[in-house]
Amino acid sequence: ASKNNGKNQTTVFRDLLHDEILEYVELQSNLKNALTAGEFELYYQPQFNMNTNEMIGSEALLRWNSPDKGIIPPDRFIGIAEKTGFIIELGDWVIKEVCRHIQEWEERKLNYGKVSINLSGVQILSSAFLNHIDEIFAAYDIAPKKIVFEITENVAIDDSITTIAKLEALRALHFEVALDDFGTNYSSLSYLKKLPIDYLKLDKSFVYSLGQDDKTGAITESIIYMAHRIGLKVIAEGVEKLEHMEILKKFNCDFAQGYLFSRPVSKSDFERIYLED
Ligand code: C2E
Ligand code: MG
Ligand code: MG
Ligand code: MG
Repeated sequence: ASKNNGKNQTTVFRDLLHDEILEYVELQSNLKNALTAGEFELYYQPQFNMNTNEMIGSEALLRWNSPDKGIIPPDRFIGIAEKTGFIIELGDWVIKEVCRHIQEWEERKLNYGKVSINLSGVQILSSAFLNHIDEIFAAYDIAPKKIVFEITENVAIDDSITTIAKLEALRALHFEVALDDFGTNYSSLSYLKKLPIDYLKLDKSFVYSLGQDDKTGAITESIIYMAHRIGLKVIAEGVEKLEHMEILKKFNCDFAQGYLFSRPVSKSDFERIYLED
């Protein structure tokens, strides 16, 4: 029974592992080549003020246009890039690319609001992080208040002392900071008190269940209330339905982002649809 095409379980397992390692090594070297070949692209997803409906900014989201595999979403390669440390180089590229785009929008006098940039934990915890930020922004004439850096809860929790120091340094430079995917971790509340942040991004898992069960509604309303009490603004992620929007408005949520308004779109689509009259 332990035979499988003439191989025993150990051999099958070893072959599987071997394949996984090969795929991993292949993806890793592909990532480096992809960056050199210009296969990465930033998409933008607009964010809206819930009361005025005006666009307040956008989130930059990374895409990999692979010539043989098509568009590869970040969840498929960010993890590998983090394990190999390549995320630091890739993360720098993302920040520079956002700066290039903002510079162009400034020159064209387009009203783009703010741009949110996702930071990986590996990136923010690397010792050169703040130097990289200095170097990149020294090359551009961009007001720091136009940039919001997003970090996820688990980053903040894994190494809170270092993270807090880095976030404080960013805010001292007048960048803004958002806590992404809020509510997906168990110890969220105690960290809110300690983290130097400006925005809380309500995770899409809360938004999905709005209108489906009363508890989610009560928890969401309480999170928004509490965030406001400690001086944070709230952005709801993953708003897909008009019903979500209506409930969030009732709860005094400040901003919204989601498929109801727009999927993430290419820079040229973003400009055509949201920035050019
Ligand atoms: P995130 O930062 O939480 O970004 C929001 C994700 O939700 C995006 O997925 C977006 O496309 C998706 N989304 C937006 N509205 C809706 C909606 O209404 N419904 C649903 N179901 N999804 C919605 P995406 O672009 O695939 O990115 C996934 C994650 O990859 C991001 O989650 C972020 O953690 C990471 N990521 C993306 N770009 C970067 C980057 O430049 N650097 C780093 N370190 N991470 C990135
Ligand atoms: Mg984000
Ligand atoms: Mg998120
Ligand atoms: Mg996420």
